[in-house]
Amino acid sequence: MRFLVTAGPTREPIDPVRYISNRSSGKMGYAIAEAALEAGHEVILISGPVNLGPPRRAKLVSVSTSDEMFDAVDRDADSCDVCVLCAAVADYKPAKVSPIKIKKRSEKFSLELIPTRDILDSLGRRRDRQFLLVGFAAETNDVEQNAVQKLRAKNCDIMVANDACLGMESDDNELIILFRNGEIKNISRASKKILSRELIKIFSEFATKRFDKKNETITEPN
Ligand code: C5P
Repeated sequence: MRFLVTAGPTREPIDPVRYISNRSSGKMGYAIAEAALEAGHEVILISGPVNLGPPRRAKLVSVSTSDEMFDAVDRDADSCDVCVLCAAVADYKPAKVSPIKIKKRSEKFSLELIPTRDILDSLGRRRDRQFLLVGFAAETNDVEQNAVQKLRAKNCDIMVANDACLGMESDDNELIILFRNGEIKNISRASKKILSRELIKIFSEFATKRFDKKNETITEPN
C-alpha cells in the first residue's frame, strides 16, 4: 500500500525573521512513516521543519508553511491508499507578512491572525475519495469527547487522540483510537515506535477491508 504521512509543525511567517509555530517535534509522524516502511509499504512523508533524520526509504517532501503543506498533500493524496495527517498545522497565520523586519517600538503591538486552510477537512470533503483518512487530535482536556466531534466534523475514517501534555515532544505516548462506526480502542503508554507498529497494522487492515468491500460491490451480479 501507499501511505501519505504529514508530520511536524508548520511555521507561519510574521516577517523575514519571525514566525508563529508550536512545540511539535515530528516524532509521532516520523515513527509512523518508519513503521509503514518496515511493514513493506511505500511512504510519502510531508514534513514541516523538525530536527529528525528522515526514514531512508521514504519520499520526503519538506515544507514550511501550512499553505505549502496544503499544496503538497493536495497533490499527492489521491495517489495514496492511506493518508495519515499527524502534523500539528498552525490554526492561524498572520493576515499580512511584513517584507521587512518589524522594528521594536515602546507602544503595544498586535498582530491580526486569520485561520489557515484545514488540510484534513479538505480531504474529508473530497467526494469519492478512495483513500483511508486518518486524523490526529492532540487535546489538553476532554480528549475522547473532542476527538469524537473532530472525527465527525472532518469526515475521517479514524481519529487517533492523545493528551497533548503527554505526547508532545515526548518519546512516549498513550492513544485512543476512534473509528467511524463508533468503535473505540485504547493503547496504553508505550514508545512512539511501538505504538506506530500497532497503528500501521490497524490502518492497513481497515484499508484492506474497505478495498475488499469495494471489489465485492464491483463484482456483484445485477
Ligand atoms: O481541529 P484540529 O486542528 O485540532 O485537528 C487536528 C487534525 O487536523 C490533525 O490531524 C491535523 O493534522 C489536522 N489539521 C490539518 N490542517 C490544519 C489544522 C489541522 O490538516 N490547518
